[in-house]
Amino acid sequence: MRSSNRIENITNGGSDGWEIFYKARKLIASGTEVVELSIGEHDIGTDPAILNAMYEAALNGHTGYASVPGIEELRSLIANRTLEKTGIETTLDNVIVTPGGQSALFAAHMAALDDKDIAAYIDPFYATYPTTIRSVGARESRIVTSAKNYFQPTFEQLDSGTKQAKSLLINSPNNPTGVVYSKTTVANICEVAKKNDLWVISDEVYETQIWSNKHISPREIENMSERTLVVGSLSKSHAMTGSRLGWLIGPKEIISKAIDLATNMTYGVPGYIQHAGIFALRKGKEFEQKISKPFNRRQKLAVDILKDFPKLGHIPPQGAMYIMLDIRSTGMNGISFAHELLDTEKIAVMPGESFGEAASGHVRISLTLDDEKFKKTFRTVCNFANSLS
Ligand code: PLP
Repeated sequence: MRSSNRIENITNGGSDGWEIFYKARKLIASGTEVVELSIGEHDIGTDPAILNAMYEAALNGHTGYASVPGIEELRSLIANRTLEKTGIETTLDNVIVTPGGQSALFAAHMAALDDKDIAAYIDPFYATYPTTIRSVGARESRIVTSAKNYFQPTFEQLDSGTKQAKSLLINSPNNPTGVVYSKTTVANICEVAKKNDLWVISDEVYETQIWSNKHISPREIENMSERTLVVGSLSKSHAMTGSRLGWLIGPKEIISKAIDLATNMTYGVPGYIQHAGIFALRKGKEFEQKISKPFNRRQKLAVDILKDFPKLGHIPPQGAMYIMLDIRSTGMNGISFAHELLDTEKIAVMPGESFGEAASGHVRISLTLDDEKFKKTFRTVCNFANSLS
């Protein structure tokens, strides 16, 4: 029996950009020690107090089917948090709780696009963007930015890339680049969205990890809330990647359609996980800062080390949990460099090419080791790149 064209088309028989990651995992499974700086996962686990809240919730009976749109208390907390941050009226009817931000990305595209509609996104991009778009049967339009412009899309790039499109997916703070979109970039996105009549799908899963520049959600710009879908998650902000707890925020009519979708796909998020989410959000800003602080510290350590390596460039990190190293002086592309680095030094980093063509000749390094280990490993990467330059 043959599977559907739609599902065959998700990866199109091609690569999903994760070869280095799988190669590193294979080495680890065979007993080789590898330092992994290839994934967006904290070097700490979920806080024991949150796990305890999860356990208590399960013991207290939240193990049955939970409300599909999400427990009202959690939806209200998410809505109020958004209202506080943006000043834009948000109620629980604007919120659906999803199994992680990834599921919200899928739901947003399902809700916004018909079969074969064109969905735009910005290169470099988080690895699942093109495959999410193909999963819903839409076609892609890729807006390729430039390292020279620190990967901020220009008005012209946005406009020409969305002329035929129905949606535009953006991500700030950005994975992989660590760039936070400027006020001008966000204004351009909103202007183009109105001009070309687009849904803006704004992936804000790194919104608590900002070191410079201010995070501006397009939803808070005038007349944008009716055409903006915001993807959020506790994965990065609360070190809860494995709990699979995220959300989608948008106009209540489209959220009610996303609830129809959830009823037929995920059937909601386990109640004990949602209660842990309530507990986690109630811990407030201070806790979010505690989780994000180490990445701020380590990006500073990385920038400091780079002063000793004038041949290596980098994109000044403004947020998220990564630094993009420009290794073009080695004459290698990111893929060959990452393979050589893994083979020689047993350090796994992500080639820029895993995130599209704009980031080729770069590697993304996760800031996810304790400070001392990070400094040592980052210096080894720089020495390795320098020896090839
Ligand atoms: N969006 C971006 C930009 C990401 O980097 C990730 C995960 O790394 C996700 C979405 C998915 O996150 P979640 O764990 O909430 O599904």
